[in-house]
Amino acid sequence: MGWRITGYRESYQGRLHIDGVDAVDLLRRYGSPLFVFSEKRIRANLERLRRAALSVHPRVKICFAAKANSLLGILRVIRESGADIEVNSGGELFKALRAGFRPEQIVFNGVSKTPEELSDAIVSGIYAINVDSSYELDLIEDLSRRLNRPANIALRIVPEIGTRSHAGLQTALLTSKFGMSQAQAVECLHRALKNPRAFNLVGLHIHIGSQTPDPEPYIQAFELVWRVALALYRETGHRLRHINLGGGFPVPYLHNSRLAEMLPEKERTLFTARLDFGQVLRQALERAATIGDHLAGDLLDRLELVFEPGRSIIADAGTLLATICNIKTRPETGDTWLLLDAGYELLLSMSNYKWYYHLVAAHRADDPHTTAYKVAGPLCDGGDVYFDIEGRGRLPDYRFLPEGLAGGDPLAVLDAGAYTLAQASHYNGRPLPAVVLVTESGELQLIRRRESYQDLLYAEV
Ligand code: PLP
Repeated sequence: MGWRITGYRESYQGRLHIDGVDAVDLLRRYGSPLFVFSEKRIRANLERLRRAALSVHPRVKICFAAKANSLLGILRVIRESGADIEVNSGGELFKALRAGFRPEQIVFNGVSKTPEELSDAIVSGIYAINVDSSYELDLIEDLSRRLNRPANIALRIVPEIGTRSHAGLQTALLTSKFGMSQAQAVECLHRALKNPRAFNLVGLHIHIGSQTPDPEPYIQAFELVWRVALALYRETGHRLRHINLGGGFPVPYLHNSRLAEMLPEKERTLFTARLDFGQVLRQALERAATIGDHLAGDLLDRLELVFEPGRSIIADAGTLLATICNIKTRPETGDTWLLLDAGYELLLSMSNYKWYYHLVAAHRADDPHTTAYKVAGPLCDGGDVYFDIEGRGRLPDYRFLPEGLAGGDPLAVLDAGAYTLAQASHYNGRPLPAVVLVTESGELQLIRRRESYQDLLYAEV
């Protein structure tokens, strides 16, 4: 369970290197904190997923979930790697188009889309709007009529499938805010078919959640959606073009077995999760193939399978480099505290989901990481810490780092590419850090400049 990834994240002469580039040098050159992304790793992650899917089904569409990271420089890499995109707002749709994605490469999700966002999606002619409710279907019907253009739609079904992920990352429960029930979806499918001037009914969508550690929820989800698609075909002869199984494939974040042992089973499972995506898909398709006759088999073969991975593409491709800005001991508790220049303003999940991010001393990567420290961010908020402030043990109380760390030392927050910068805030008047991409050819590309104090005022009137 080491943190090294051969050819990508390694140590050389004791220092952390990303695609052969010295992390300490990067900090010196671009300042702290700093996000560093690897184009090679992004491409490799996409390729691994695509190959796994294609090994079990011939028609596959991988739509990167822009919510995980929507920097234009990252979206361009994704597009150039041949992937498509999933967006969740008018803003992400705008960025996707700006990054050069063609409309037929775009899938639009969202529980609360505005008429303006829906109009933009209809006019652009995107691959599919994933309709969240019967109300939204009415809205789209009205807009399509006015725009004199049918909308490509898929319906988002929320079954009752739980996962072992964090409660906030589960999206397939009837108690969640997402999608429509199976019965509602069936009704909407028939309504949509009756009005071809307004709707081009192309698919079904389901997303069971993020960081899902087990295969069975995917298999169940596919079975359920497949049954709906098959029933529709039998009743009406309408062939859906695609089934969208969403994203959620997990990434292992915890790279230290001693820390893993300290966590409750739920968190240990969550942060060490690995899934063989090809294997999961194979099992899902095998189960689906047992349902129905040869006509069903033909329908299944011709279906395009859509996926919306975010985390599994971008999380481990991003590293957040930070600096120890203050260090103190508390003789009363025996603790040594490291206060960094990066906290939950950049790692929101750490605070709201008690998300684990692994820390490595970038300048002493090969030294034993065995000394226990309390680690915290810079914000004026007692919750801005790298442990579970509520004392419920969902994060380790201490982090293991080399002995004798000092102010000014660089730390690397690993696997920090997903749901970090995308959720970042200016809290406490902290400008957002610079972002550097190590390109495939090993060049350094600044894809977001460090914000200035002036930038803190950019929209104020
Ligand atoms: N699709 C939808 C509808 C989502 O809500 C999300 C995020 O939860 C994703 C895709 C991406 O999930 P992940 O980043 O876990 O792959």
